[in-house]
Amino acid sequence: MTTKLYSEVWDLDVFFKGGSHSPELNEHLEKVKTQIVALENRIEAFSVPTKVEDAKEVHDLLESITATALNLREASAVIGCFVAANTKDKQALLLQSDVSTIQARFSTVRLKVEQTIAKTEEDVWGALLETKELSQFTFVLNEWRENVQLQLSEAEESLITSLSVDGYQAWGQLYNQLVGDMEIEMTVDSMTKKLSVGQANNLASHPDAAVRKEVFEKLEAAWKEKEDFFASALNHLAGFRLAVYNKRGWDSVLQEPLMRNRMSQETLDAMWGAIQANKQPFIDYLTTKAKMIGAEKMNWYDLNAPITSQTTKMSYQEGAAFILAHFGKFGPELEAFSRQAFEEGWIEAEDRPNKRPGGFCTGMPASQQSRIFMTYSGSMSNVATLAHELGHAFHSYALRPVHYLNRQYAMGVAETASTFAEMIVADAALKSAQTEDEKLALLEDKIKRSATFFMNIHARFLFETRFYEERKEGVVSAARLNELTEEAQKEAYGDALDVVHPHFWASKLHFYITGTPFYNFPYTFGYLFSLSIYAKALTEGEGFEKKYIDLLRDTAVMSVEDLAMKHLGEDITKEDFWAKGVALCVKDVEEFLKIASKER
Ligand SMILES: [Zn+2]
Repeated sequence: MTTKLYSEVWDLDVFFKGGSHSPELNEHLEKVKTQIVALENRIEAFSVPTKVEDAKEVHDLLESITATALNLREASAVIGCFVAANTKDKQALLLQSDVSTIQARFSTVRLKVEQTIAKTEEDVWGALLETKELSQFTFVLNEWRENVQLQLSEAEESLITSLSVDGYQAWGQLYNQLVGDMEIEMTVDSMTKKLSVGQANNLASHPDAAVRKEVFEKLEAAWKEKEDFFASALNHLAGFRLAVYNKRGWDSVLQEPLMRNRMSQETLDAMWGAIQANKQPFIDYLTTKAKMIGAEKMNWYDLNAPITSQTTKMSYQEGAAFILAHFGKFGPELEAFSRQAFEEGWIEAEDRPNKRPGGFCTGMPASQQSRIFMTYSGSMSNVATLAHELGHAFHSYALRPVHYLNRQYAMGVAETASTFAEMIVADAALKSAQTEDEKLALLEDKIKRSATFFMNIHARFLFETRFYEERKEGVVSAARLNELTEEAQKEAYGDALDVVHPHFWASKLHFYITGTPFYNFPYTFGYLFSLSIYAKALTEGEGFEKKYIDLLRDTAVMSVEDLAMKHLGEDITKEDFWAKGVALCVKDVEEFLKIASKER
C-alpha cells in the first residue's frame, strides 16, 4: 500500500504571506479598523426600528457587522496560530494585543446594535421578523431581545460593565497571578526541580505511585498555604455576580449559564438524575483499578495512574491513515473533508520545542477553512486528539452554508462533533487492539473520560451550586470551602474515594473564570449528547451522515431541547434519554471488569 505523505507543519501563508511580519496581514488589520470606524459612525444615526420598512436598514447593518466580524475573526485566528506554533514569536504577541483592542471596540459596536434592535415595540417586532430580510434571524434576534428584557436599563448595565473591570474580572486575574507565582519543589528521576502548578499537575499520571502521592500532597499544602487569598478572590467575585443577579431580579445562580447554553433547568436536572442513578458501575471500576495498582481503595492522587506500561505507537502518517479509514466507514463527507485537511496543510502536528501545550481547532471563516494545532508524538491518545480536533473542523464545515449570525453555537453543543469523531476512532482502536493488555488500556482511556464527566464534573457542579447558595448569606470561609468540596467529592464519587482533594476549589481555574459562569455542566452535557448521537449512528448505519450534518447545521439556531426533538426525536428533559447515553459508557466498564478479573 502506498500512502501519500502528509505534512506535519501547517500552511498559514494561504491566509497572509510572511508569518507574523506579513505586510498582507497588516493591510488586512487596517481594513478591519476602517470597517469598525465606519460602523461606529453609522450607529450614531441608528435608532430603534419603528416600522416594518426599517427591516432593510436593520438587515444592511447586520450584514456590515457580519463582514467585519468575519475579517476580524480571520485575523485573530491566524495570529492565535502564530503564537501557539512559536511561543517566542514576539511580533505575534504584539499583534495579539492589537487584535484584542480592536475586538473590544467591535464588541461595543455590536452590543449597541443588539440593544437598539432589541428595544423595538412588540407589534413592530413581530412584523420585522416576518420580513424576507430578517426572518432567517428569528431565533438570534429573539434571543437578543429576551436578554435585554431580562436585564436592567442600558445605563445601569453599562455602569455594571464598567465597574466589573476592577470589581469582578480583576478577581479572576488576581487568581491567575497568585497561581502563576506558585512553585512546587519535586525530585523526579533523581533531579530536583521547581515546578509550576501546570507542570506539577502533569505528574498526576506518573507511573511511580510514590511520585503521584508526593506531588499531590505538596500541591495540597501549597493550596492550603494561600487558602485565605483564594477564598477572598472566590468570595468577592461570587459576591459581585450575586449582587448583579439580585438587582436584575434573578433568583437562580443557574439562570445565566442555562440561558447561555440555551438549555432548561429540567434538562439539566434530568441529565444529573440519570447520571446519579447509574454511578455503581463507575464505583466498581474505581475499586477494581485501585486493586490493580495495589491500593485498598481509590485515592484522588491515583485517579490518573496508568494501569499498563504497554501502549501502541502510530506514526503521524499511520495515524492519519487510521483516522481516514474509520471516518470513511461512518460517512463519505467526513472522510473527504478530513483528507482535504491532511492534504492541504490544515494541521500543525510536529513535535518540536517552543510550541504551546495542548490542542485546539480554530476557524478562518472568511476563507472557509480551519486550522488544527497539536503536538503529535505517536500515542493512541494523540490519534484520538487529532480525530477530536478534526471533528471540530467538520462542525465548521457543516455550518458553511449557514449565515454567520446563525453559526454562534453555545459551549454545551460545541463538543458534539469533536466527541463524536473521537468516539469513532476510540472504538476502532479498541477493536484493532492486539493484546488484552492493550485493550484494557484503551478501554480505561474511555472509562476515565466518562468518570471525569460523571463524577469529577458532577462534584464541581455540586460544590459550585452549594457554595453560591451559602454565599448569598455571607462570606464563606476557606475551612467551609474545604468542607463543601469534600462533601461534593464524596457524593459525586459515590464514596469510592478514600483520600479526596479538599482544596480542589482553590486549584481549579474554572471557578474563577468570570466570563463564563459554571464552567462545568456544559462539558458533561456535550459528552452525553454526543454519545447519544453516536449511538443513533451505530443503529442507523449508512445514510446517517446526512442527518448528522443537518443536526450540526442547526446547533446555533434553536434550544438544545428543540435540537434533540427535531433531529433525534428525543425528549431530553426526561431522564430516559440521558440514561441511554450513560448505558453506552457502562458497557465499556463491564468489558473492562471482565478482562481485569480474568487477568489478575
Ligand atoms: Zn474540543
